Amino acid sequence: MFDSLIRFVREQYRSNDFIPLHAPLFVGHEREYLTATIDSTYVSSVGEFVNRFESDTAAYTGSPRAVATVNGTAALHAALLLAGVGEGDLVVTQALTFVATCNAIAYCRAEPVFVDVDRHTLGMSATALATWLADNARLDDEGTCRSADGRRIGACLPMHTFGHPADLDGLVAVCAQWNLPLVEDAAESLGSFYKGRHTGTFGKLGTLSFNGNKIITTGGGGMILAGEELGIRAKHLTTTAKIPHPYEFVHDEVGYNYRLPNLNAALGCAQLEKLEAFIASKRVLADRYAALLQASDLQFVSEPPQCRSNYWLNAVICDSRAQRDALLAATNEKGVMTRPIWTLMNHLPIFAHCRKGDLSNSEWLEARVVNLPSSVLPELLA
Ligand SMILES: *Cc1c(COP(=O)(O)O)cnc(C)c1O
Repeated sequence: MFDSLIRFVREQYRSNDFIPLHAPLFVGHEREYLTATIDSTYVSSVGEFVNRFESDTAAYTGSPRAVATVNGTAALHAALLLAGVGEGDLVVTQALTFVATCNAIAYCRAEPVFVDVDRHTLGMSATALATWLADNARLDDEGTCRSADGRRIGACLPMHTFGHPADLDGLVAVCAQWNLPLVEDAAESLGSFYKGRHTGTFGKLGTLSFNGNKIITTGGGGMILAGEELGIRAKHLTTTAKIPHPYEFVHDEVGYNYRLPNLNAALGCAQLEKLEAFIASKRVLADRYAALLQASDLQFVSEPPQCRSNYWLNAVICDSRAQRDALLAATNEKGVMTRPIWTLMNHLPIFAHCRKGDLSNSEWLEARVVNLPSSVLPELLA
């Protein structure tokens, strides 16, 4: 099976060289926009591409506001602060995620609580969230959600793994019941829709990433998705909290220098123009993987019902950890890059002390999930 998978990947990418997991592709107006930015001298914190990248992203996602940031982690940090997360708070998130999700919680001097994911979405399970809250939380007299020992539970932070939307109807309902602000880590799910609505727009705030390995890239970059009022505050907080004035420097809180440089935004505008074409290409590749693996004992991870996934990273679920190890060894040895899903956050020494619910699905997936090469196939671009 592994040999036919390796042969298939080499055929798709028409290459006998090293095949990475996800390479960026620049086949649009990238050079034109970058040159225009350099010629304008507005390469840094001011410039028209930042505004355009923000308004184009807002229009694409249907978010009232989009605020560009230096990276996705900074976007998450600011989004959590804007959701009201502060020192000593707990933030419920999933154990199966990239470390940036939890680092952003720690930057707020808050602490993650880990709940389980669903096996089919790989995202936070609404049932696991409801169970942990029922067992560990209460609403105080002011309607604030608190743990049994009185800690405020400041937010719920699910993540849309590999671009597959989590159970948003379920998560929105549980968060509403417990008065919990919902913040979505949509770093991996630009272009993924749940029942026709873009991921990252269901909660109070959502965040995107444009790191080099994401579906589109600005080199490094991120975006905060929010409503009007929080969007305006997001812009303020991420641009040193300066009161607008032609020449005076007055800052009304400790702000952050998290603004995306115009040079990166220029790249982003060109990349965003290609996003739908990239997704169409990636969905064809995903279909081909699914067909190839149908008769195998590797279970291909497909988009959840009523969702359109961007298929950022293709993934399979092996039937055992031993099979996972064999797949990783066979492919990487032959120059076809694959990698396991992340180590669970509660298994990292930095977060080992954090509270957690039952993590059976997370443990099960940690031992079995492998990502396959997923770069856009250029010849499939319209
Ligand atoms: C990529 C990513 C981020 C943000 O990463 P940056 O590299 O800071 O842009 C956050 N969360 C998840 C799940 C990610 O995959």
